[in-house]
Amino acid sequence: MQIHLSEILSREGKSIEKEIEFQQESFEVSGQAYKIVKREPVKLTISNQGNQELLISAKMDLAVAIPCSRCLKDVITEFCLDFSREVDMKLSQEERAEQMDENNYIAGYELDVDALIADEMVLQWPMKVLCKEDCKGICTVCGNDLNKQECECDRTVLDPRMAAFLDIFEQFKEV
Ligand SMILES: [Zn+2]
Ligand SMILES: [Zn+2]
Repeated sequence: MQIHLSEILSREGKSIEKEIEFQQESFEVSGQAYKIVKREPVKLTISNQGNQELLISAKMDLAVAIPCSRCLKDVITEFCLDFSREVDMKLSQEERAEQMDENNYIAGYELDVDALIADEMVLQWPMKVLCKEDCKGICTVCGNDLNKQECECDRTVLDPRMAAFLDIFEQFKEV
């Protein structure tokens, strides 16, 4: 969804509020697509702060299906976005692109709301998602879901370098 900024840019000190349907079906993060399972409209406020500077605020509640880091089962993960960005419209397209993240959500005098939300989602994206705190994950040998049942596989790590790494990992867990 594109919002034209030329009108608000000509009215110093003014604000506009809009509710906008978010149109994307999924988010792409690090080359992976994640399905959006619940969404509210985006509540957008754009204020002209004078001197060709805009303050863009957005609020949106949504939920995304993200696989559990251990067992890969989809976990419905809720996000309550509430953020603002200051945009200096005096800058050229190139200068702005340098200031913002690679995901450029303003082109000329158009604000791309989907791109703005996607940009924030990348910042909010969790390092890891677990279906439950003590998820046992899947067996690395047979792929069995260890939360459901144990299997007979020998999961002892044979590579000594890997074993040393796991020891370190265990130590970290205890801290
Ligand atoms: Zn899990
Ligand atoms: Zn197994």
